[in-house]
Amino acid sequence: MSNHKKIVLATQNQGKIKEFAAMLKKDSLDVDVISLLDIPDAPEIIEDGSTFRENSYIKAKAVCSKTNLITLADDSGLEVDYLDGAPGIHSARFAGEPRDDKKNNEKLLALLKDIPYEKRTARFRCAICIMTPAGNYFETHGTCEGIIVDEPKGEYGFGFDPIFYLPQYKKTLAQLDPDIKNTISHRSEAFRKAVKILADILNK
Ligand code: IMP
Repeated sequence: MSNHKKIVLATQNQGKIKEFAAMLKKDSLDVDVISLLDIPDAPEIIEDGSTFRENSYIKAKAVCSKTNLITLADDSGLEVDYLDGAPGIHSARFAGEPRDDKKNNEKLLALLKDIPYEKRTARFRCAICIMTPAGNYFETHGTCEGIIVDEPKGEYGFGFDPIFYLPQYKKTLAQLDPDIKNTISHRSEAFRKAVKILADILNK
């Protein structure tokens, strides 16, 4: 199979680009992957949706219109049950501008102070939208369930990883080997499903 198709990832995040490229390789998809880092005048995107799903759609549509290439966009964040799903789509800037992971974690821990373990359930959620230049779109979704602990632990990862505990591994996501995280995360679940859809689109 050699169709030299090109897809664009609507992100500037090197970690996501690498993770996704590795998955495509594993599935032997013959496709060139570029990202917003390769597009000189990438559009400024206002993510004003009210869900992860809406935001991934907004990003995919904007970048697909600009590039005329099959586009994949993701949006993710943390939902804490005790906080009725906050920080949700506001995860990146939970403690305000500029984006600061440490302050976000501190704010969350303060909001959960003295809340018992069994009420600290949470999940990461990831929504992906694949948009084709013909205007067809496909959505996938992934989650990763855990518990917010009361102090940060571990050095790996980013964001809320140091306070997100996985009972089945008895570790926070920041203590877990990144290779393992990449097989169980919300993003990897959504990415895996997206790779299958891309394979179908590209082989048509
Ligand atoms: P993004 O939309 O994937 O860039 O994620 C938005 C925000 O959600 C990040 O800045 C983090 O605060 C949080 N987040 C998303 N995925 C993860 C993860 O895998 N670990 C820790 N935090 C995450």
